[in-house]
Amino acid sequence: MCNDDTVSKLKNDFHYTLSKFSHEIRNPLTLISSELQMIASAHPEVEDYDHWNDVMDNLAYVTDLLDDLSVFNNAGRIRLEATDTCDYLKTVISSIKPTLDYLDITFESHIPESLPVLMLDKIRIREMLLNLLKNAWEAVPVPGGKISVSAFSKKSGICIDIEDNGCGVSKEQLNSIFQPFFTTKESGTGLGLAISRQIIEAHHGSISIESTPGQGTVFHIFLG
Ligand code: ADP
Ligand code: MG
Repeated sequence: MCNDDTVSKLKNDFHYTLSKFSHEIRNPLTLISSELQMIASAHPEVEDYDHWNDVMDNLAYVTDLLDDLSVFNNAGRIRLEATDTCDYLKTVISSIKPTLDYLDITFESHIPESLPVLMLDKIRIREMLLNLLKNAWEAVPVPGGKISVSAFSKKSGICIDIEDNGCGVSKEQLNSIFQPFFTTKESGTGLGLAISRQIIEAHHGSISIESTPGQGTVFHIFLG
């Protein structure tokens, strides 16, 4: 049986190993990336080579994976500050609106004029909301994609619902989607939902999903 001290030591060792590992990979990766850029500028014809784009895509994927691993590694560490959730949500939403407009996705937000002040880590909560919104925009049809964000007070906290009319999640996959590295996307890292859940749990909140394949998905978040 592991006691709390052993669990905490194992967790710290894991975080340390992961960050060291990411760091060691990131250095040669940066070199590879700049060397490839040098090759491309000295020999622009390489960009016509069929596999050049595959190499660049794979490089971008490994970079994304390292970025997500580093966020995943830190998602449980939060710095709370009193946050006016109404202003805060409106600001986060207006920062995402241009991207959704650009992607031609119909976007609605329903944020009431008053919501409670909560102790939140604004950077992490923003990360979590962007992860869920990104999943939504990756799931919706083009054209015809619709996403909505609604918030309302509940008990002493708030609920945030993020709804889309995308491809949905099958019953079998519902059990796996929050597991690290579970992805159905060709270049997905499978860390977005694992990170989001960690962030929410670090705030003692909760996240759940309702989804109908072919019709859409709603993520319900509670922060108290
Ligand atoms: P990634 O986006 O890199 O695949 P995530 O952890 O963000 O990793 O998501 C895991 C998986 O959950 C996705 O690959 C997808 O299958 C499913 N998923 C998450 N959000 C949605 C959504 N809004 N609609 C449909 N499927 C979703
Ligand atoms: Mg994702």
